[in-house]
Amino acid sequence: MKKPTDFVSSDLSYYWLPFTPNRLYKSAPILLSSAEGMFYQTENGDKLLDGTAGLWCCNVGHGRRQIAEAVKNSLLRLDYASSFSVSHPQAFELSERLCDLAPDGFNRVFFTNSGSEAVDTALKIALAYHQARGEEQRTLFIGREKGYHGVNFGGTSVGGIDNNRKQFNNNLLDVDHLPHTLDIERNAFSRGLPEYGKECAESLLEIINLHDASSIAGVIVEPVIGAGGVIPPPKGYLKRLREICDQHGILLIFDEVITAFGRVGKAFAAERFNVTPDIITIAKGLTSGTIPMGAVILKQEIYDAFMEGPEDKIELFHGYTYSGHPSACAAALATLDIYEDEKLFQRTIELSPIWEDALHSLKELTRVIDIRNYGLLGGIDLRADTDTLGQIGYKVFRACLDKGVLVRGAGDSILLSPPLIIEEGQIDQIATTLKTVIKELN
Ligand code: PLP
Repeated sequence: MKKPTDFVSSDLSYYWLPFTPNRLYKSAPILLSSAEGMFYQTENGDKLLDGTAGLWCCNVGHGRRQIAEAVKNSLLRLDYASSFSVSHPQAFELSERLCDLAPDGFNRVFFTNSGSEAVDTALKIALAYHQARGEEQRTLFIGREKGYHGVNFGGTSVGGIDNNRKQFNNNLLDVDHLPHTLDIERNAFSRGLPEYGKECAESLLEIINLHDASSIAGVIVEPVIGAGGVIPPPKGYLKRLREICDQHGILLIFDEVITAFGRVGKAFAAERFNVTPDIITIAKGLTSGTIPMGAVILKQEIYDAFMEGPEDKIELFHGYTYSGHPSACAAALATLDIYEDEKLFQRTIELSPIWEDALHSLKELTRVIDIRNYGLLGGIDLRADTDTLGQIGYKVFRACLDKGVLVRGAGDSILLSPPLIIEEGQIDQIATTLKTVIKELN
């Protein structure tokens, strides 16, 4: 592999990379130039096994011709169509296909361009829904510590990752937070859903007590926390949240930007956990990351609450120039075809015991303090030394890159979410590479 100092390209100074230590990156840049199947190729010609599905999104693997063709044809046929009082057939077709996949009762879709926009749209819909029903005092949202709901102001407010909030201390929404459920003392090295922590859901009752249920619009959680560390819910936890929300007229929003489209073995985590929220947000796997797109899927009764009054009245003063963009719809429809044709959601169920075994084979390493997994998600927590606190993940990420494997380092954790087309041998390669790299840290 070429040394970073050999790197020759145009000036890298102009681009401000998101969520990146820019000076560090630019001192040793990594540029991906192409991708196929399970692999990226770098500018230097090195192949990288993708252990992260890009950024939790390329579920059907890279370089899928079927999607590229669909997008190309769509672009040539209809480059752009507004969704403000006009539209195009694929937006309706995609809405219907998504509702077919969604839990029973979900049959309305609002398109956005990203997960962050989906979250903010869901929060706005929740507020406006209560208003439409004469409960405009319901304005408070409950998020959860370690939750990630994107980076717009709504999502940042309900989000629970401290660094993402601290820099913008003037959050715009009225929020409170549930405690997170990560409990390494009791649940370390759980395989799948952890045994302990269902009682964390009872904190919702305390929050309700504090603010009064009549002021609360919604609770938003990721069914499995992703970016905050891959934290599967304790057994019974989500069901209990559902019960409490029902008892108090509070909307339950599942942010399924990561967990939808097979990541946990079903189209939606709601189905896998048999807990039905009121609103679901999606993005990422919707187009397998190929074209930016997000959406909010909701129950008809929520939509219906808006369909009152004169028919010439706009029911929701919200939308994006690119809502339901034809190219994105084409990419999503082709992606859904691949999920179906290749039975990829089922594949996750079949592969997850192998994935689980591979990850848990790292348990004996002294640096490893916890391993969590669910579906094709994995999180590994590492013990850092005082001088490397918060940096071990990055070190492991860079060392794995040198060995041809792309993982995600976040603080002192490694987060994994490979494309659902991963083969058994490649699961082994990810685990073996991590083992070697983590051993070398000692
Ligand atoms: N919600 C969740 C659960 C996510 O994981 C993410 C992104 O990782 C988002 C929202 C934000 O999505 P985007 O980056 O597309 O805005």
